[in-house]
Amino acid sequence: MNEIMEEMKDRYEFFEANYIPIVDINLLDEKVVLGERTDSCRFCGKTREEVSFKKIAHAFPELIGNKLLYSEYECDECNEKFSSSIEDHLAKYLSVYRTLCRVSGKKGVPSFKTKAKTARIDHTNGILQLQESIDDLITELDEENNSLIIKTTREPYIPNAVYKCFVKMAITIMPEAELKNFINAKYWLQVTDYENTPSIIKPAICLFSFTPGNNPYKFIKAMLLKRKEGSEKVPYMILIVAFQNFFFQTIIPSEKDLSLAGESLQLSFFPIPFSEAHQFGKTTYREMDFTSNLVVRDDPVHLNMKFDTIEKMDPNNIELIDSNKKLEPTVKTPVE
Ligand SMILES: [Zn+2]
Repeated sequence: MNEIMEEMKDRYEFFEANYIPIVDINLLDEKVVLGERTDSCRFCGKTREEVSFKKIAHAFPELIGNKLLYSEYECDECNEKFSSSIEDHLAKYLSVYRTLCRVSGKKGVPSFKTKAKTARIDHTNGILQLQESIDDLITELDEENNSLIIKTTREPYIPNAVYKCFVKMAITIMPEAELKNFINAKYWLQVTDYENTPSIIKPAICLFSFTPGNNPYKFIKAMLLKRKEGSEKVPYMILIVAFQNFFFQTIIPSEKDLSLAGESLQLSFFPIPFSEAHQFGKTTYREMDFTSNLVVRDDPVHLNMKFDTIEKMDPNNIELIDSNKKLEPTVKTPVE
């Protein structure tokens, strides 16, 4: 057995011993509406007399490509609050990755513009188009190796708000019977004054992996994993969300973990299906710390992409990359 397979076996055994999946969602092509029409909002607790429920609430943000999963139990006020606050931070965090990995949001694949607004990346009709100016260079071209390095920065975002976004997703898909163990998390989600509200989980760690290639996760997959009886030193609830090239594994803060405060918890990456040498390159793993509630500015993003053909369009400094077949973004160097 090679090293990678052994690593996967260890991960599998860790989850087999400690967790049981209580929710497993695969968004293939059918619309899924969670929950019955409830009398009150799952998040703020307000009743139908107090708040309206007119808008259809995306159970997961549309910006990660969700066009199939909705819920009946999120009021319009909460819907508005979550989309204009926490989801906005996730969008800024994913940044240029959404364009390069073709994650389709409300208006299709979003365009990316730099801070100076003189360089941009658009994705239209299967073609990735990059424009840059001498003063705002975001690419380094290596024609010999059909490789293009993209170097840019994220828009300002708050890490803890990104974390909240995953907590919100978890609470949304959680079975009703579990909600009583997440009262603090629900209250915390309601607070949008991020810079004056510390994280209720420290450190707020998210295990992340990026698999290169043309959308290895063909559909959005989500799981809620609950601690098995007798497994004491692991977090009570873990959310797993995978879409396009991304995989996020997040601890959902629960009152069930209060007795473990101060103890060091065991964590393991979930065994994902792309761990063996993947044709477009290796999956990269990172542990991300989203504890900070301060705004992060000029956060660098550094991606290495492979392409089939490239077409330079002078004199306008426009470069066109044919991305029909295999546009392969790979994270080369972790720079954050
Ligand atoms: Zn509400």
